Amino acid sequence: MSNIIVQKFGGTSVGSVERIDAVADIIKNASLSEKIVVVVSAMSGETNKLVSLAKHFGDNPDKREFDALVSTGETISSALLTMALHSKGVKARSFSATQISMKTTSTYSKAKILDVDSNKIMSVIENDTIPIITGFQGVTETGDITTLGRGGSDTTAVAIAAQINAKRCDIYTDVDGIYTTDPKIVSNAKKLDSITMEEMLELAGQGAKVIQTRAVEFANKYKVPVRVLSSFNEGSGTLISLEDKGMENALVSGIAFQKNQVKVTLHGVEDTPGTAFKILGPISDAEIEVDVIVQNVSVDGKTDFTFTVSTEDQEAIKGIIEDINQKIEFKDLIIDSEIAKVSLVGVGMRSQSGVASKTFKALSENDVNIQIISTSEIKITMVIKEDEVDKAVQVLHKEFELDK
Ligand code: ADP
Ligand code: ASP
Ligand code: MG
Repeated sequence: MSNIIVQKFGGTSVGSVERIDAVADIIKNASLSEKIVVVVSAMSGETNKLVSLAKHFGDNPDKREFDALVSTGETISSALLTMALHSKGVKARSFSATQISMKTTSTYSKAKILDVDSNKIMSVIENDTIPIITGFQGVTETGDITTLGRGGSDTTAVAIAAQINAKRCDIYTDVDGIYTTDPKIVSNAKKLDSITMEEMLELAGQGAKVIQTRAVEFANKYKVPVRVLSSFNEGSGTLISLEDKGMENALVSGIAFQKNQVKVTLHGVEDTPGTAFKILGPISDAEIEVDVIVQNVSVDGKTDFTFTVSTEDQEAIKGIIEDINQKIEFKDLIIDSEIAKVSLVGVGMRSQSGVASKTFKALSENDVNIQIISTSEIKITMVIKEDEVDKAVQVLHKEFELDK
């Protein structure tokens, strides 16, 4: 393991020139005792602005050009942050994805990292210069610009940390660490000192946007210790630990939720071998992520097949199901876009029962109707009405005494 630390700064952390100046101080300070590599996001609001600009000439802009455009926010902040460091007498150089060969697949807007030129990064460090690398961007084998999905700078940072064998990856953001749930929804949510990789994988996968799921997957696969901390306040943040906490395992460690979801139901579909594959195969080929898959008990050889996808995939799903309709029969396609998911996560669920019944009781007492329930060893996910999510999260946070 090298003595390098990768520091990633999110959008709010570099949201203004004043913030960029403050971040430059954090980097300068850390560089006095460690070798530093920096990954930076676009200034807050910038990516959203670029996304709406792209939609000006039609709802479905060309995918290649879309990524070429929305990736530019990171280019701005990397150059600006480098200038801020120069003004403080620190040697630094900005790098785009192309310049460090951040090679990805060619699935625009959802590209996956394949490889990165660690020699290039190492040669900059050996020159006593801090590389300031654009997050979120990638480049295909043929030199086209891609992006890694919203929140993708986290993944850039952890992937680089893995590739250069860094000692740790520090994700600087606008909260003091990972909380029991989003502190914007539950004001007395509690900051955790540490969380297991397994729990973080589930929380991120179920919508805790504090770190992108792919970043946690990289950290887990390549055993990169990750710390989430604030660029606004000093503090030790939360360590995503590679080890289990053993006896101290919490029953419920955190609650995640995901809005912007749609529930897709194929009603009256034939219950024969291969039907699920005929439905989900083409969806998976289109690289659309499907969650909470439920098939009902069949009546007269017909059943209902339901799953959830992200709202951004709704149009693509409709097109795919139209094609599927030529291969399998069903009565109706029902799409409900007013739903959301709420998930409780805790490694302690493995050894203790009762979480599910306690959850359902608390929600029923508060008139929250559960439409679908799905469980894994350390997680319970429920599909509920979107406008009841905040209430459900607050009720469950209290029920499991996560503020204590
Ligand atoms: P950045 O721009 O630094 O990448 P993000 O907005 O992507 O920041 O992620 C940080 C936000 O994640 C926080 O402001 C908080 O609202 C939200 N969040 C959701 N769940 C959690 C959680 N469990 N702990 C901390 N923050 C959370
Ligand atoms: N700027 C990108 C976004 O807003 C990537 C990131 O912030 O991680 O999604
Ligand atoms: Mg983020």
